[in-house]
Amino acid sequence: EVLNSKELIQLEEKYGAHNYHPLPVVLERGEGVYVYDVEGKKYFDFLSAYSAVNQGHSHPRIIEALKTQAEKMTLTSRAFYNSELGKYEEFVTKLFGFDKVLPMNTGAEAVETAIKISRKWGYEKKGIESGKAQIVVCNGNFHGRTTTIISFSNDEDARNNFNPYTTGFLSVDYNDIEAFRKIAKENKDTICGFLVEPIQGEAGVNVPSEGYLSACREICKENNILFIADEIQTGIARTGKMLAIDHENIKPDMLILGKALSGGVYPVSAVFANDDVMNVIKPGQHGSTYGGNPLACAVALEALQVVLDEKLAENSEELGKIFRSEIEKMIAEFDFLKAVRGKGLLNAILINDTPESSTAWDLCVELMENGLLAKPTHGNIIRFAPPLVMNQEELNLALNILKKTFKNF
Ligand code: PLP
Repeated sequence: EVLNSKELIQLEEKYGAHNYHPLPVVLERGEGVYVYDVEGKKYFDFLSAYSAVNQGHSHPRIIEALKTQAEKMTLTSRAFYNSELGKYEEFVTKLFGFDKVLPMNTGAEAVETAIKISRKWGYEKKGIESGKAQIVVCNGNFHGRTTTIISFSNDEDARNNFNPYTTGFLSVDYNDIEAFRKIAKENKDTICGFLVEPIQGEAGVNVPSEGYLSACREICKENNILFIADEIQTGIARTGKMLAIDHENIKPDMLILGKALSGGVYPVSAVFANDDVMNVIKPGQHGSTYGGNPLACAVALEALQVVLDEKLAENSEELGKIFRSEIEKMIAEFDFLKAVRGKGLLNAILINDTPESSTAWDLCVELMENGLLAKPTHGNIIRFAPPLVMNQEELNLALNILKKTFKNF
């Protein structure tokens, strides 16, 4: 039985929990920067599954790695060693410059892992009094959906009625160096970590001022606090460098990756740290049945190799500049566009309307009609994050769709 878009949407509405509000498009196939709906209509994908599909949809090399490994072995659990994990671990730790990696599956799991390691380090290495460890987080953060993570969110939708909340978190304003310096000094003896997104993705591509991250890095050093970079959305070439922190040439104590680590082919996440931090975790103290499975390792290794071979960071940097300068011209022309911001191919257009208005949503529906998929975030902001395998010709076509849509809006 072949179902059409309307019928498939009805099925999801009837049988699925309503925890998302998707655009009314039902996708069936993807290739590179394009996706196709069940009726065969072609679209530019300007979301890339929230920056997981940086390498483009169904990249042939990653799919080949998936198939080859799937035919050999998929899961062993960590009760045994497997033939792929060590090779993958060597490759990624050398690539990102850390002694060790701890493999997990989803982004939220990796953030939870980093929180646990950071607390344990706080007690066992820093000497924080038992039960007193605190982690500083930023207002506007998005680190995932688990009970602990939403405990330190300040998005009411994300946290309302999911209480009681996990304690041990202190919030500061994002992009406010002095606020962090103050809180770090005042709580010097109890803070074990500073968890931060180098660009706040879900908050609407909030780019901090130049120097913010390196100043926070210094404050962490001065106060013996672990600097924990959540690069789940910003990492793997998305912002024009392999990592967004590379724009300020800083090295975090812990790095969290997910999403594009596997090119959107399989859930793979990871936490990186050097031995003095990572070695606080001993056998039996943390784990995951699927974490570090051979299929994940084979896929992630190939996905990263693709990023390097195809110079996706460089492409992202170059196309991002063109994107923003072309959008600037459109902003000058159309009143309902307010500003564009971002780095590399992680960008957002701010709409000249209230967060409660439907303008951004209506624009996204029009863009969809015209063959380009993007999604509003926080009401009046539209994020634009195409796969990084896009070429200039494709970007021009996409920009034409944007211009045409804005003109007729
Ligand atoms: N951290 C950041 C910065 C994210 O953008 C996301 C997802 O959007 C997550 C964590 C959570 O990842 P996941 O949805 O895989 O749990």
